[in-house]
This record gives sequence, C-alpha cells and structure tokens, in this order.
Amino acid sequence: MGNIGVLPEHIVNKIAAGEVIERPSSVVKELVENSLDANPSMISISIKHGGKSLIKVVDNGTGMDQEDALLCLKSHATSKIKNSDDIFTIHSLGFRGEALSSIAAVSRVTLLTRNSSQQAGTEIEATGGKIKSVKEKGTPVGTSIEISDLFFNTPARKKFLKGERAENASIAEVITTISLAHTHVAFKLYKDDRLIFDYPTCPHLKERLLGTHYHEWVKYLLPLDIKSDGLNLRGYFAKAELSRTNRSAQFFFINKRPVKSLPLSYALQRAYQGLIPQRHFPVAIIFLELDPTVVDVNIHPTKREVRLQNEKIICEKIVRHVREVLYKCDHSPSIFHTYSLGKGKSYYQKSVSEPFDFKEIQEKVKGRDDYPETAKGTATSHQMAKEPEEEMWFVDTEKKLKVITPLGQIRESYILAETEEGFIIIDQHAAHERIIFEEILTSLERGNATSQALLLPAIIQLSFKEAQILEEHLDLLVAVGFSIANLGNNTFSVDATPTLMGNVEVKDLLLDFLHGILEGKGNVPLNDRKENVAKTLACKSRAIKANEKMSPEEIEYLINSLEKTKQPFTCPHGRPTFIKLTISDLEKHFKRK
Ligand code: ADP
Ligand code: MG
Repeated sequence: MGNIGVLPEHIVNKIAAGEVIERPSSVVKELVENSLDANPSMISISIKHGGKSLIKVVDNGTGMDQEDALLCLKSHATSKIKNSDDIFTIHSLGFRGEALSSIAAVSRVTLLTRNSSQQAGTEIEATGGKIKSVKEKGTPVGTSIEISDLFFNTPARKKFLKGERAENASIAEVITTISLAHTHVAFKLYKDDRLIFDYPTCPHLKERLLGTHYHEWVKYLLPLDIKSDGLNLRGYFAKAELSRTNRSAQFFFINKRPVKSLPLSYALQRAYQGLIPQRHFPVAIIFLELDPTVVDVNIHPTKREVRLQNEKIICEKIVRHVREVLYKCDHSPSIFHTYSLGKGKSYYQKSVSEPFDFKEIQEKVKGRDDYPETAKGTATSHQMAKEPEEEMWFVDTEKKLKVITPLGQIRESYILAETEEGFIIIDQHAAHERIIFEEILTSLERGNATSQALLLPAIIQLSFKEAQILEEHLDLLVAVGFSIANLGNNTFSVDATPTLMGNVEVKDLLLDFLHGILEGKGNVPLNDRKENVAKTLACKSRAIKANEKMSPEEIEYLINSLEKTKQPFTCPHGRPTFIKLTISDLEKHFKRK
C-alpha cells in the first residue's frame, strides 16, 4: 500500500490559515476587505486584547442570503470569480475564497448577515471550522462577523503572537492604510470598547488624512496626477522636509489594494536623491489605477505583493514627475517649524498605547484655515462617492530664494542674509557644494568642461573591481575634465583634473569615488550616474569649508550663485543649505500677534 493520503479539509484549512492568517491584523485585513467588496458606506471594527480574544467587523454592505452564508466558511468558496479567465481581470479585493475558511479553521466564528432579498437574517456559529448552529435572526442588511479565541486550536501560533500593544498598533495601521484608499466609506475602530478611530466619509484623501494621525503631513503634500498610455497615477508626495528614517510612510495602492513594492519605493528614492539626507525615505501615498490584466495579484497568499507589467515605465514616470515638481518647490525648513518624523515610536504605537483623543484632533484640524468646507458637512456616502476633479488645496511651488542684503558671517561658518520674507541662515559649505554640484552637472550636459594639467601624472593601481567601475565611468569622468589613460593591468594614469575642482588629491578622490559607487546600487541609469559623479566630485572639490573667513565679495558671490541654482535648498547629500525665519514667525515669537 502506498504512503500518500489526501488531507481532510479541516487540516488543509489549518495549513492555509498558516499562510493567510499570521496574526490578528491579518484577520482584520481580510474581514475589512470582504466588507469593502460588499459595497458598504460604513465599516465598524471592534477589537479586544489586541484582537486575540475578539475581532468584530460590522458592515452595511450587500450581506448574504442563507445559502451563501452557509457556503462562505468553506474553503475555495467565493462569489468573486467563476472561471479561470476571471483570475486575470480581478476587480474585487478578494478572489481566492480562502480567507473565511482559514480564519474559521483557527477560531470561533459568529456570522450574522442578511441581504435585501431576505426578511430575516442568518446567524451561524462555528468552532474550528465546524458549523455548530444555524438560526434565523433579525438584523439590518449587511454583515457582522465576530472572531473570538483566535488560534485557540493552534497553540504554537498563539505562542508566537506579539504583545497586545504591538497587535493593536498593527491593526490600527491596517485600518488606516485601507481607509486611505476608500474615502467614501466611514471607518470606526473600537479598542476594548473605546472608540479610537472615527473616519467619516469624505470626498478627498486630504480630508481623510486630516482625520488620521497623518494630519500633520497635509501641509507638506504635493499632488501627483499622471494620466497617460492607460496609466493613471494619482496621490501625494511630500516636500523633502518631511522625510522619515524608514519606509513606513510610503503607501502604494494598485487598484485600491495596498501593496508593498520595492521597485516603486526605489523610484521614489531616486526622485528625492540629493533632496533628503542619506538613509532617509520620502513620504508618499500613491494610487495606481491599472487595467487588471496587467497586474498579477496572485503571487502572494495575502496579496501584499503584486507583479506589474511595465513596471519600469511606471517607475520612470514617477521619478520624472516627482523630481520635476520637487525642483520647483521651496524646501527650506523654517527654524521654528522643522518637522521631524521617524524618531521614536510609530504613531500607531503612540496612539493605541497612550490615551489618544481623536475628537480633539478632529476639532483641532477642523479649525484650521486650510480645512475644506466640504469635509465639515455630513454629506452622505452617495454624494461622496465621486472624487471632485478639482484640487482644493493651493500648493505653493514657487521657488523662493531672493536675498535682499547679506548681513555677514557667523562663526566663520554660517552666513546671515535678509530676504523678502524675513532672514535666512546659510550653511556656507553646504551651499557651495550645491553650487559646484550643479556646475559640474551643467558642464557634463553641455560638454564644455575645462581641465588643468597636473605637474606630474598620478599613477593609480586599482583592484580588478575598481578598475571595472572606473572603465564604466570613464566617459563621464573625461567629460567632466579628467584625462585618464589605461596603462593595463588595472593601472591608470591621470594627467589632468577638472578646473572646477581646484587642487585636489587625485588618488584619494578617485578611490573615494569608486568606493562610493561600489557601495551603491549597481546598474543605475545614466542620469543618476551623472549625478553620482557630480556629487562625489562636488564633495571632494575646493568647496569652502566651515571655519573659513569669507570676504563680503565672496559672500555676495556665494549668495548670487546659490540663487541661480536649479534647486538651492539642499546640498547634494540632501542636507539643507539654508534655514529661514519669516517676519511672521518673529512677530509670533515676540508676542506681537
Ligand atoms: P474571497 O473574499 O476571496 O472571495 P473569503 O473567504 O474572504 O473569499 O469570502 C468568501 C465569500 O464570502 C466572498 O466571496 C463573499 O461572497 C462572501 N462574504 C464574505 N464576507 C462578506 C461580507 N462582509 N459581505 C458580503 N459577503 C461576504
Ligand atoms: Mg476575502
């Protein structure tokens, strides 16, 4: 007799649960997605003990009749696809038909549901996937699912759950993330019987953000709106001042499904290159609307990752557009309003572990001048369903660096200057680096770099890898003004350097340059390679340092040159070149208004 046996359904479901249901927040994600697929105008979520003892999701969507209610807990039971072709044209969030069966396999479920064709609703109780009772019960149209004792029959999984706080935080994050893509649905979250989130329906993402912990972002956001070649990209990306030290403030949605995408994230990183400090990550919320046939959502059991056709084209479009807009913006941080995220706990951890009064936040943001009238009303979800075309926020993208009078140097390192708005403090080294960086880039683009010959050629012996990188960048280095000859055997001789760079130690410079590139990512596009060259060279150039006295003429020259740069706000490494203080800031702080 053979050894192979086909596993019974309850074991199959338990195994599937291992993939789909990792922790309480995965249950919340699946249940909320099911609710959203049923077209509700509100979803209410209640959790107890980090979702470990109870998760209840109630919606006013279409609901189910008794026949469907009995089927929905079975594995591979779905109303969302009927045949294999449907897998390639998915419009719903679910389609695998395994979430409810997986959840039911590892918990106790009470499902109460009714659709509009039925007089009475159906209540089903199940334990470990086995139906224990089916009753008729009065209930409004919609669905309520209660999951208690999660993982009661899989003790190993239960043991590995994190503490209540972490689970609460993860659930809160799942809900807020999903809510960003569904502003026409109201969301409520009750934690241990206390209402902690209350997001009313609203016409725009910005109003939704104002109601969440992300409300402070709103004043930093710039709109993204690209429609071309069947691609529809919209959302917001933040000014460079609002960067974080991890990727947790990057949200990507493909056809309203939240996804993790490293390629999209790298694209953003490239767009912000030189505008935010190293190891900082941009803040962005980006929605991609794509023909479902070009997205494969079936590569990951929780559908958190998807595969995209034309990914490269999409990434290039994001980089180009975001960069273009960022280059037009005023990024100079204000001395008083410097906004720093990314340190300490996440918002969610703070909000769910410390007392958090959402009403207080909402009242506060409603009082703000930039809070739109439409968000204050109580429009119905029906009215809200359509996104108004117009952008209601005014985005100030005018570049502002107009110095009226240079006032002098502070500690021989910073320059004080009066501007139309107030005054600015310039970091002389950072500013000079920005100027040289752009000069190098321009000379690369125009091909008009000049060289100065060295008295003695520098002979440089490299490793095989270093030599390879140097070969790859030789054209660019020559274009910028180097004269380099390959002597064979990984040895090179340099007999001229760019005039722009002044007198530099050639060997150190080239080695630093090569190592910088070796540490970075391989295969960067030409534009980025140009920037890499310009960045490294600017950094090693004759840029004025801190603690160097400058004459009034030098100060004036520096300011004039900075004003002329395309993007005067940061040095090539993303640090600010100047910070500002406006007259209105001053008046506020001297209590004049
Ligand atoms: P999937 O969402 O992949 O279809 P699920 O196991 O999550 O699979 O759900 C199974 C089916 O149960 C769904 O296809 C849907 O028809 C029904 N269902 C689940 N939750 C709801 C809900 N909140 N409202 C209406 N129908 C629901
Ligand atoms: Mg589902």
